[in-house]
Amino acid sequence: MKRPRRFFVETWGCQMNELDSQRMSGQLMQEGILPTRDVREADVILLNSCSVREKAEQKVYSRLGEYRRLKADRPGLLLGLCGCVAQQEGERALARVPELDFVLGPARVGELAGLLARRRAGERVVAVGFPAERRYDLDAISREGGPKGMVTVIEGCDRRCTFCIVPSTRGPERCRPMAEVLAEVRHLLDYGFGEIELLGQTVNHWREPGGRADFADLVDAVAALPGLARLRFVTSYPRDFSPRMVDLYRRHPLLCDYLHLPVQSGSDRVLRRMGRGYTVAQYLELIGALRDARPGLALSSDFIVGFPGESEADFEATLELISRVRFASLFAFAYSPRPGTAALRLDGEIAPARAAERLARLLSLQDGIQAELNAQLIGRELEVLVGGWGKEPGALTGRSSCHRIVHFRAGASAAPVGSMVRVRIVEALGHSLRGERVDVGEHVLAGESLGEGSVARPAARPLPLAPS
Ligand code: SF4
Repeated sequence: MKRPRRFFVETWGCQMNELDSQRMSGQLMQEGILPTRDVREADVILLNSCSVREKAEQKVYSRLGEYRRLKADRPGLLLGLCGCVAQQEGERALARVPELDFVLGPARVGELAGLLARRRAGERVVAVGFPAERRYDLDAISREGGPKGMVTVIEGCDRRCTFCIVPSTRGPERCRPMAEVLAEVRHLLDYGFGEIELLGQTVNHWREPGGRADFADLVDAVAALPGLARLRFVTSYPRDFSPRMVDLYRRHPLLCDYLHLPVQSGSDRVLRRMGRGYTVAQYLELIGALRDARPGLALSSDFIVGFPGESEADFEATLELISRVRFASLFAFAYSPRPGTAALRLDGEIAPARAAERLARLLSLQDGIQAELNAQLIGRELEVLVGGWGKEPGALTGRSSCHRIVHFRAGASAAPVGSMVRVRIVEALGHSLRGERVDVGEHVLAGESLGEGSVARPAARPLPLAPS
């Protein structure tokens, strides 16, 4: 019997990339090519890359170097570079890696199937740029990774934050019509995805193309759909968070107790140089309004330390902001210069050792805050959406509404992926919680049984959030 063709996708970066990988997987499966977790048996390898930081970009070429060696044994193997590094590098990637078969930018993901046909006809294809008409392959998406269904509502970014490469890798903003978004969410709910995550680099800047509806209207419409258990969205841009959006947290209990709201710095001077368009006071005012609308709302954020010109006082202001807000979690990185960004022209470069030292101080402060916040949850009962097996034998893992990872044991009754269970928290770990199941929720959503004897699934990989 003829061996079925297989594909292997490696995904780096944000949720947008994660969803793009699901779109590409779906197209390949429609071509009769099946997924594999073992790269050595793959006939098609896709590296879906991220270029938000320089290090990630450098790693792309070293990973391509590993993959191209596989071609020595498998001449028919197709190797594709996708994602933001693909958009950025284009033809250069083909020249640098002769074994590379194609380069596919994020705005051209829907063209993968056609591109394979062109490659088979002998062409080494570079598909990058931002066509006016994009193919959005809703019916081909291969959804995976537990009970959460992701739906892109806005692609690209029109902001010009001085450090960010996203506007040039993902192109100008393009909003999907509300009717299209609702159709996709309905489709996911029909398939049993109880948790929906709306995606966009600046998700709350969504506007109905040619219409008047804004993101608050979109959330109102999605939240009204029957079968929805939880709703999240990422990534929000602070300046676009209108009072009507704040009020969503009052109106919709199924909107999760969690919001990722990147601030990047606690210094007005640095925020100005970053081109963020808000002040620390405005950010804090927004946080106050959100916590007023939803007491106990867990917040996370992104920070860049060592941005050009960041003084010790600027950095201290960032630490002060973190102490004041007490984020449930955060993502912090040393500034990484990116090609084509305005920050390259700024003076005041911070030495890497100093940036690393600041980053370590920031993370240590956050570790302490996070440990205290997690310890406060001990004894509380949280509703956990079951995501799959945990790392410890027999343990399950899931997410609370406040986005904490919770490990627990299934107990006597099965806890299918996608079901909601109640867990009493007994221990706070560094970046997660451990609990005991006290109940099975009433709205079991969908998924496979994880009772005794079922096949173990690997835990979902944590992914960094998109910049915004
Ligand atoms: S940081 Fe966010 S808002 Fe700013 S340019 Fe990048 S993607 Fe756009």
